[in-house]
This record gives sequence, C-alpha cells and structure tokens, in this order.
Amino acid sequence: MGSAITPGHSRVVMKNPIVEMDGDEMTRVIWAMVKEQLLEPFIELALEPYDLHLPERDRTDDVVTTQAAEAIQRHRVGVKCATITPDAARVKEYNLKKAWPSPNGTIRAILDGTVFRKPIVIRTVPPMVRSWKKPIVIGRHAYGDVYRDVEMKIPGPGRVAMTYWPSDGGTGDTVLVHEFRGAGVVKGEHNTEKSIRSFARACIEYALSERLPEMWFAAKDTISKTYHAAFKDIFAEEVQARRADLDRSGVAYQYLLIDDAVARVMRHPGGFLWACRNYDGDLMSDMLASGFGSLGLMTSVLVSPDGNFEFEAAHGTVQRHYYQHLKGEPTSTNSTATIFAWTGALAKRGELDGTQDLVAFAHRLERAVIETIEEGIMTKDLAAIAEPRPAGHVTTEGFIMAIAERLHANVGAGAET
Ligand code: NAP
Ligand code: MG
Repeated sequence: MGSAITPGHSRVVMKNPIVEMDGDEMTRVIWAMVKEQLLEPFIELALEPYDLHLPERDRTDDVVTTQAAEAIQRHRVGVKCATITPDAARVKEYNLKKAWPSPNGTIRAILDGTVFRKPIVIRTVPPMVRSWKKPIVIGRHAYGDVYRDVEMKIPGPGRVAMTYWPSDGGTGDTVLVHEFRGAGVVKGEHNTEKSIRSFARACIEYALSERLPEMWFAAKDTISKTYHAAFKDIFAEEVQARRADLDRSGVAYQYLLIDDAVARVMRHPGGFLWACRNYDGDLMSDMLASGFGSLGLMTSVLVSPDGNFEFEAAHGTVQRHYYQHLKGEPTSTNSTATIFAWTGALAKRGELDGTQDLVAFAHRLERAVIETIEEGIMTKDLAAIAEPRPAGHVTTEGFIMAIAERLHANVGAGAET
C-alpha cells in the first residue's frame, strides 16, 4: 500500500538528479517511509544514492562520505538523513574499525560551506517569544575562533606575548598579551580571511536564494577593534561586490553590534537571516531552536560559496526512539524536519532546472504537512506545546500516513480545477 499512484495523475518528472544520503537509526526508518508514502507516488525520483549508514561508512573506510560530497559538487543539490557520529560506545556497538569522523564535518570541509538553520513556523505551535511570526534563520560561521584556539594556564607571575613570524623571513611583530602578577589563564584565537570571506559569500548566496528582506551580521568591533572589525570589513566588501543582486532581490544588509542584535531579535517579527560568528551561532541557534518549539521543526541547509546546497533536518538520529522501535514499541517521532529537507532539495532542484512542477509539488507537500499539524494531527513533541492542545498524539507512521492522505486529496483536488 501507500505507493499506489493516484489515478489520473502523472508523476512529476525530474530533469537532473538529487544526491541522496541515507543515514542511521530512527531517521533511517523515517527516511524510507517518507520516500515510499510521500515522494514516490508523486515524483519519478532521479537520485544519485549514497548510503551513509554507519556500517557502510565502516565497510568503505568512510570513502562513501567523500564520494557523496563530491557528488553534491557535480549535481549541486543533496539531501541527507541524520547520521551517527561514532564515539567509543558506537565503535563497540557497531564493531567499527575506528571512530570515523562526523559525516557533516567531512562534507562541510569538502564543500567549504556555511550551515543555515531555519525553523518551520506553524500557526498552532506558537513560538515562546510573542513577537516571532516568521522564521529567524541563523547562519553560523563554522571555522576557527574559540573552536580552534590554543590555551595556556599561567602558574604565576610573568609575561605572555603573541608573535608573528612571516614565512618569507620579513620583519614580524610581537604584542604583549598581559603581564601577570599571579596565576591566570590565556588563549590565542585565529581566523583566516579566506574563511571569513567564504562565510560572507555563503550568507549572501542564501539571502538571495531565499529572497529574505533582511540580512544581519553582528559582532563586537567596538571592543575587538582588529579581530571583529576584520569580520565586519570583509562582510561589507562582499556585500558591496553583490550590491546589484541584493538590491534587485530586495535584500537589505545591516551590521549590528552583537548586544544590539540580541536585544532587537526579541521584538522582531522574524523573516530574516542573522549571520553569526562561530561561537555566537552555536549559542543563538540553540536559543532559537528551543524558542521556536521543537527540534523536529528545525531544518538545516549547507550552502557553499559557489552555490551548492545540502539539505537536512537539524536533529540527530533520535536514538532513544529507535531503541523503542527495535523493541516493537510504538514511537512518536516527528518527521517534519526530514520531510522539509526533501522539499528544500526538490524545490532547489526545480529552481535550478527550471522545472516549475517540481517546485510546486515541494510546496504542496510542505502545505500538507503544515495543514495536518494545524488540524491537530501531530507527534508527541508538538502535542505537548501546541495551542489548542490536541486530544492526543499520533505515531511516527500515523503522522506520515495522515500527510499522505491529505497530499493525495490535495493533488486530486488541484487537478480538477
Ligand atoms: P537527537 O537525535 O537530536 O535527539 C535528542 C532528543 O531530542 C531525542 O531523544 C528526542 O527527545 C528529541 N528529538 C530530536 N529529534 C526529534 C524528532 N524528530 N521528533 C521528536 N523528538 C525529537 O540527538 P542525540 O540523541 O543526542 O543524538 C543521536 C545521534 O544522532 C548521535 O549518534 C549523534 O551523533 C547523531 N547526530 C547527528 C546529527 C546529524 O546527522 N546532523 C546531528 C545531531 C546528532 P525525547 O527523547 O525527549 O523524546
Ligand atoms: Mg550549541
């Protein structure tokens, strides 16, 4: 059942393929259901599949992850299921050759991308902040600063300095960090012009692609007059270089002091991109995810500076639910963000290929998901916070089946008019 084609409807045909990356645990279970119930009946899927299931990464010595990233560079659009990043416990559980690195880290390193997190806003799942009406998207720089710092404990009195030695043997520079009179701590951070520039370009690319009316970049250049100021200046240069495109798409750019941005975001209706430095983005994306309701509503897209797109849900493999599922117990895992990863990829594929019916289908599927939830059919995570509270919640399968029914009905109705 489920994969029966609605009578009288031809399936949407894809021109170019999407790179499909399957994954692990509960999200792998959901992945198969979404394809069978919500995609295959409506689209003749053209996919280039890579299985990033942990045993498969182990079997291929993780080569499959690199191949998937390279495929995205060829086809420009990918969709990824959540995957396990193995730790010591997983090495044992899956009897792995080693603790393979995070697939997202590997893919990001190859695509040189920036990750954008965008919440799905649903009328009956009100954000915790009253003024938020539209998504607030966070673009987080994913290189350097405190994540690549060096740190030192200072045991007692003495001087700490920072020195630059030019590779060409030229005159360098030394600055005194601090003259310690007692014990203390010190750290050195860095970033590169290349990385900051590609971050700025990815943010501009994203704002244009989503036609967002506003893009912010925030830092603290009043205090950090060289380090933060470098970010501010590079952003300004990159914005200037794309000024005509930004004007044409109606994207307004502004630089804000980070404290001003934090204050403003609380009374802003949303619908904008907030480009954040690495640490700010780490914090603000978690703040927004919980402020907008549930991890099951948070989508994520990796955008490379040259315009390749990889879509996924922001959450992980939902391991706790998977173990319930393995025991044969019912689960209530929210597939919304996974479905929106697919619709994001399909819409982008359609946009790049000029296939309007693919874009239209993606939007129709998104509407079917939102209408299903607004009608009161939802998983446990949303049932706990929705207004009005629904009488109960549905299972993982029940939710996807309810969306499928609505989609079949909507597609049928659409064809008659
Ligand atoms: P997680 O999979 O995001 O789940 C954490 C908890 O959040 C769940 O136990 C569940 O809470 C809730 N949750 C997350 N997504 C949900 C959804 N769609 N529907 C309903 N509830 C949802 O994080 P984790 O358990 O820390 O990580 C599990 C594995 O995922 C790890 O191996 C990690 O490496 C991997 N991971 C992968 C990615 C990725 O591929 N992008 C990202 C993060 C983590 P309740 O248990 O309270 O219901
Ligand atoms: Mg964080």
